[in-house]
Amino acid sequence: MPETGTRPEIVTIPCLQDNYAYLLHDPATGRTALIDAPEAAPIEAALAARGWQLTDIVITHHHWDHVDSVEALRSATGARVWGAAADAHRLPPLDHALAEGDTVEIGTLQGRVIDVSGHTVGHVAYHFPEAGAVFTADSLMALGCGRLFEGTPGQMWESLQKLAALPPETLVCSGHEYTAANARFALTIEPGNAALRSRSDAVAAARAEGRPTVPSSLTEELATNPFLRAADPGIAAQLDMAGAAPADVFARIRSLKDAF
Ligand code: ZN
Ligand code: FE
Repeated sequence: MPETGTRPEIVTIPCLQDNYAYLLHDPATGRTALIDAPEAAPIEAALAARGWQLTDIVITHHHWDHVDSVEALRSATGARVWGAAADAHRLPPLDHALAEGDTVEIGTLQGRVIDVSGHTVGHVAYHFPEAGAVFTADSLMALGCGRLFEGTPGQMWESLQKLAALPPETLVCSGHEYTAANARFALTIEPGNAALRSRSDAVAAARAEGRPTVPSSLTEELATNPFLRAADPGIAAQLDMAGAAPADVFARIRSLKDAF
């Protein structure tokens, strides 16, 4: 066990209507990163409550509800801004432009950049092994995945496969509180999945108390998230797609969700 006070800390911050931002704090150096910047006030309050100084802002994708407060926080703190080079033309100015496989350094913590195009083309996720967490925003979400505004179903399926290959105990820090609606949809795809049914009950209980349903673990997503489970023969059979390619089953599940 690491000594108390040496473990990386992750703070979940509800923003706007249903967004989440996260703080990642490295106790060894005091450096603190923000992953996505939907709204300055709750983020500043979370920093102040812990006496942390924002040093880095890490962006997942260009949608306004993920970048709206980057400039306000940058000018208030002098934080360095990291984001995808592929999206630099539509992101706030970057201090560090990244491609898949690059590393984000937050003090002693290293985050590997994963291209998770699908929701947008250029969306990236950040895996921090020492923190046991991946920041996925609108790619892999709790019991769901982002709507395909720019990418193809095949692209998103490939992106989800990369995330599915991370260590199963990894915490999935996603960008929105959509889990209750995602659970209702997931149950239409796999009504007989016992793990999904109990997770759905736990999600409803958490929301009734106003608690976030994120982060989740990759283990529970692999067991219950229909978008990660498109290769499961039972799901293909349920959709009358026995023997179909997983990417095609995924595409079908995504289009059913769009119409749900
Ligand atoms: Zn988005
Ligand atoms: Fe979003």
